[in-house]
Amino acid sequence: MSIKSNIDYVNDLKGQAAIRSGRKPEDVLLVAVTKLHEPSEINEAIDAGVTDIGENKVQEILRKYDDVKPVRWHLIGHLQTNKVKSIIDKVCMIHSVDSLHLAKEIDKRAAQHGLKMDILIQVNSANDENKFGVSTEETDELIRQISEQCPNVCIRGLMCIAPYEEDTDDARPFFAAVKKIYDKYAGEKKDNIDFKYLSMGMTNDFQVAVEEGSNLIRVGTAIFGYRDYRKEEK
Ligand SMILES: *Cc1c(COP(=O)(O)O)cnc(C)c1O
Repeated sequence: MSIKSNIDYVNDLKGQAAIRSGRKPEDVLLVAVTKLHEPSEINEAIDAGVTDIGENKVQEILRKYDDVKPVRWHLIGHLQTNKVKSIIDKVCMIHSVDSLHLAKEIDKRAAQHGLKMDILIQVNSANDENKFGVSTEETDELIRQISEQCPNVCIRGLMCIAPYEEDTDDARPFFAAVKKIYDKYAGEKKDNIDFKYLSMGMTNDFQVAVEEGSNLIRVGTAIFGYRDYRKEEK
């Protein structure tokens, strides 16, 4: 299967899930996750119509950046504060904000570049100790603190990584819990709260995630095939 036919297939399933949840196919954004894949493959995806790509490591973004055609880059993985400065002018949105400390660093670097950075709050709705993210209980407080203290960021929504479930229906409650918080803010537009994205769903569970209200899916394996983790940067 070519990258193009894989993208068509994912878009088709995404569109059907959107329709099942009362929306239009184009209401759900596909972010192609390109970690551990080479610029040549990424460019193939861009030629096939991909507009947004996701990477989880700063080092990988920097290594590939110049060899990839113009596209919107999303940082979807855990971000260390000391690396914010390297990507602040390269990514369009940071999906993994889970502390005021990190938001403040993004705010500071955004100010230095004269820009306002879009961020999502990562919610760990399964309270999985091995995952990053704030609990559902802490989410409102973090949003309040960031909106009050970080004028150079804009909170655009929420992100969630559900636990891997053999039966993806079992992931529904974790997506639904995040959607419930999202809905509280969706209508409320303030200076730096402007919800537009609910980033949920990966290769294994994106159809279920869209049915539960996701409007941004992050899909890697279904597009590019399995990743070779021996290539991972330390
Ligand atoms: C790798 C990754 C994905 C994509 O996972 P696939 O199962 O390959 O679709 C999505 N989100 C995050 C945060 C990731 O790190």
